[in-house]
Amino acid sequence: MLQVRLEPGLPGGRWACIRGLRGHDEQALARGGGGMAAVELLDRLLVETPGTSVGPGRAWELAVSDRDRLLAAVYASTFTDQIESEVPCEQCGEGSDVSFSLAAFVASIDASEDSLREAGVVGPDPDGAYSLADGTRFRLPTSVDQRALLGEALDRRRLTLLRACILADQDHAEGRTASDMSGELLDRVEAAMELVGPTLDQHLSVDCHECGARRDIRFDIQHFLLRALEHEHRYLVREVHYLACSYGWSRAEILDLSRDERRAYVELVAAERAARQSRSL
Ligand SMILES: [Zn+2]
Repeated sequence: MLQVRLEPGLPGGRWACIRGLRGHDEQALARGGGGMAAVELLDRLLVETPGTSVGPGRAWELAVSDRDRLLAAVYASTFTDQIESEVPCEQCGEGSDVSFSLAAFVASIDASEDSLREAGVVGPDPDGAYSLADGTRFRLPTSVDQRALLGEALDRRRLTLLRACILADQDHAEGRTASDMSGELLDRVEAAMELVGPTLDQHLSVDCHECGARRDIRFDIQHFLLRALEHEHRYLVREVHYLACSYGWSRAEILDLSRDERRAYVELVAAERAARQSRSL
């Protein structure tokens, strides 16, 4: 089980525990899919643990930045911390390998104490809200917000999201009306949100190994994790078949195993088959 620190987390929960993937999770992902499949997966993996309120069913309420950190932990524990991808260089067509450490990347986008002080952002308070120097209070966007935006026109999404995240302060006890929110205020809140709650959906600059040309690539942990799991799903049916034939276990029993256990048994079976084949030659 993996423990992940959260910032801001939820009231009563500044960290979360997640378990490893089982076959049932991989199956559910293959059946479901869709734009929010990664949040549904995370909801299944959160574990009820004394000392934190972040249990199963609460992934939707987490700030998007916390959700992404948990998805990064899922990726690193399921596969590896090292992200390897192939993106051909637009200049020379070569130099396609992109490689970086997920943990180092997550650490690199965390705001430093100095940058927070400079921007005058304070928080989170016990409710998970942040304040600007002029008293403006805001919270970070959640997956609930993102789901609600799916029904909104593209050009209105930014405004709707920012308005939803700006909270009542002392001068605006009843909440701010739309006319209170100037473009300047919205820009400041948006910049502060990016500082305290950076998501793992970022543009990265990468230098080509061959010609040195700099290019921009987009890395989105949700997309990256789902694509990796989708790629792996093709092996699941074969692995279930192997174990059912060898041990006589039911499909449900095999899907109940953790991914690591299942793989370990499959390796044993494959090694035994290979040994039998070489003896019979
Ligand atoms: Zn190149």
